[in-house]
Amino acid sequence: MFLHGTSRINDAGHLEIGGCDVTELKAEYGTPLYIVDEQLVRRRCREYMDAFAASGLGFQVAYASKAFSVMAMCRLADEEGLSLDVVSDGELYTALQAGFPAERIHFHGNNKTPDEIEMALDARIGCFVVDNLVELELLQAIAAEKNQTVNVLLRVTPGVEAHAHHAYAATGQTDSKFGFDIGNGSAQEAVRLASSKANLKLLGVHSHIGSQIFETEGFQLAVERVAGFARKVKEELGIEFSVVNLGGGFGIRYVEGDTPLQVSEYVAAITDAVKTHFAGIGSKLPEIWVEPGRSIVGDAGTTLYTIGTSKEIPGVRKYVAVDGGMTDNPRPALYESKYEAVLANRAGEQPEETVSIAGKCCESGDMLIWDVELPKAESGDLLAVACTGAYNYSMASNYNRIRRPAVVFVQNGQSDLVVKRESHGDIIANDIVPARIAKQPVTK
Ligand SMILES: *Cc1c(COP(=O)(O)O)cnc(C)c1O
Repeated sequence: MFLHGTSRINDAGHLEIGGCDVTELKAEYGTPLYIVDEQLVRRRCREYMDAFAASGLGFQVAYASKAFSVMAMCRLADEEGLSLDVVSDGELYTALQAGFPAERIHFHGNNKTPDEIEMALDARIGCFVVDNLVELELLQAIAAEKNQTVNVLLRVTPGVEAHAHHAYAATGQTDSKFGFDIGNGSAQEAVRLASSKANLKLLGVHSHIGSQIFETEGFQLAVERVAGFARKVKEELGIEFSVVNLGGGFGIRYVEGDTPLQVSEYVAAITDAVKTHFAGIGSKLPEIWVEPGRSIVGDAGTTLYTIGTSKEIPGVRKYVAVDGGMTDNPRPALYESKYEAVLANRAGEQPEETVSIAGKCCESGDMLIWDVELPKAESGDLLAVACTGAYNYSMASNYNRIRRPAVVFVQNGQSDLVVKRESHGDIIANDIVPARIAKQPVTK
């Protein structure tokens, strides 16, 4: 397994992350356990901030909190000077409760409810990324009621098909549920309309072309298309964009063969393209915003499991089951995502066999890894799956009424619990048994 960030094999032959031996983490917190390498998260944040600072352009780096939205993570993003994207009232609430400055929060989504819009206006967030005409009218109406003027970006689809990992991860093409199409004129009409609204302040446009992208071409093409659009809007409507948001989607290394670029390379490609294509369009170059999610937290996360049963089918394969699965990591089942793993309490040993890692849910598709080389695993051994920091905890479910795991941050030999493991009480916390069918008073 590739060792990310501060991960290393210690003298005892155990995996160590942030100076913490995972066998000790297991003893203290149990498994499954999400372990986050805090130093690596901070390093990724700084790579973005430093690369943009070097470009000389105005910028904001907004952490797409949907990748991993918990209060402690909002604190890290704030401390590192990032802005924050939210997509629901739940993510907004998390950020506000964490004390994240509202003026650096951006609200996304293709179907924001009136309640969500009200909540965000009351909090005085920094910007709405408006996805469609229904939302545009609704936002104007609610902002007018509250006597507020609100910053907006319009989400546009530049007609770029990013070479994303999976069709569901591509969002910049014309046939998408998101945004206004540049090609068919609806984006320009939306700009005209938005700038006519008394309570909306149009800052510019937003484009997000996809996810887990390994090349710069898609971003460069998006910049070129958006710049062409900006020129047309300037010429035909006399409107200038002060902000251009180019979304997220920067790839990371999950497994061997994944070839992401350095953060600085993605950023340089984008900022260079902006300098080239926006030259002469407005009175000055627009501020550039990006929204990395996966590339901030993905490789900093590791999930620790305890191995239980195994089943060998002679001549076919050997299944080794862990005490979690699709409930804590649905990505293999959803997207056929690939992961690497190591036997964390015997990490110095040579692999002896190829096995497949199964979860414990009642689904044949509940597999974490097909074919991984490991030493002969015994019941009670620990399995660490790398690169689970993004879209794992945030996509976790209670299927089979399995309790969601705890999350710890580790750094400098210290571990801090940032999310408690769910209790049995949590599992039934919202259940109600009507009196007419109740057998006994329920104690929670
Ligand atoms: C999901 C999403 C992101 C973050 O994508 P990553 O692949 O995690 O970097 C950014 N912006 C928007 C609009 C998104 O939907």
